[in-house]
Amino acid sequence: MKAGGHSPGTDSGLPVRPAGAHARCLNRKHHLAVSGQTVSYDHSLGLHTTSCNSCLEAHADRATWLELDLRIAHQPPGDRAGLIIRARPPSRPAAIGDVVLDLHGQTVGILGVALCGVDQRGLITRIEVNPSYRLRRFGTALVLAALNHRPGYRWATTDIGRSATVRAFWSAQHLPENMQLSDPVYCSHMKQVQGIA
Ligand SMILES: [Zn+2]
Ligand SMILES: [Zn+2]
Repeated sequence: MKAGGHSPGTDSGLPVRPAGAHARCLNRKHHLAVSGQTVSYDHSLGLHTTSCNSCLEAHADRATWLELDLRIAHQPPGDRAGLIIRARPPSRPAAIGDVVLDLHGQTVGILGVALCGVDQRGLITRIEVNPSYRLRRFGTALVLAALNHRPGYRWATTDIGRSATVRAFWSAQHLPENMQLSDPVYCSHMKQVQGIA
């Protein structure tokens, strides 16, 4: 896959990684300090890209990735990259809101999240990525964005269910050790606002 050269409004189809320095390439095969990396810019999405030179030379998939800003956007529309993470906050604290990934204004990924600042707890209630956009690490980016947004919180998820895709997703995440999957902890505020007895 090649980054850049696309007209505005199109999608390069590249996977994403959290923006910043990376020790290894996306395929986890090469130390970038040794393989070398090529930094470029994806004009279709308004994001920087990085390529692993060894993966490029081997014509490997996922040699190039988009550097996605995981900070949850608050700036007004119009001055944004084509791929952004933003919050749809709930109407009341401790209720369920969404962290969403928008591609040119279209929501392609949703993470349902309840947060309590009093108890420093976060609860993930669902994760959905549009099937046309799978295998681009969009779900991983949404989970990381939520966790990074509230450092120090203790996190849990509701029942992740039996879907092989969803189980594979969660098992591949680098999660905090104290994060409880399929073992939701509702604080008193979440219970009250979500009507859980
Ligand atoms: Zn590589
Ligand atoms: Zn609470």
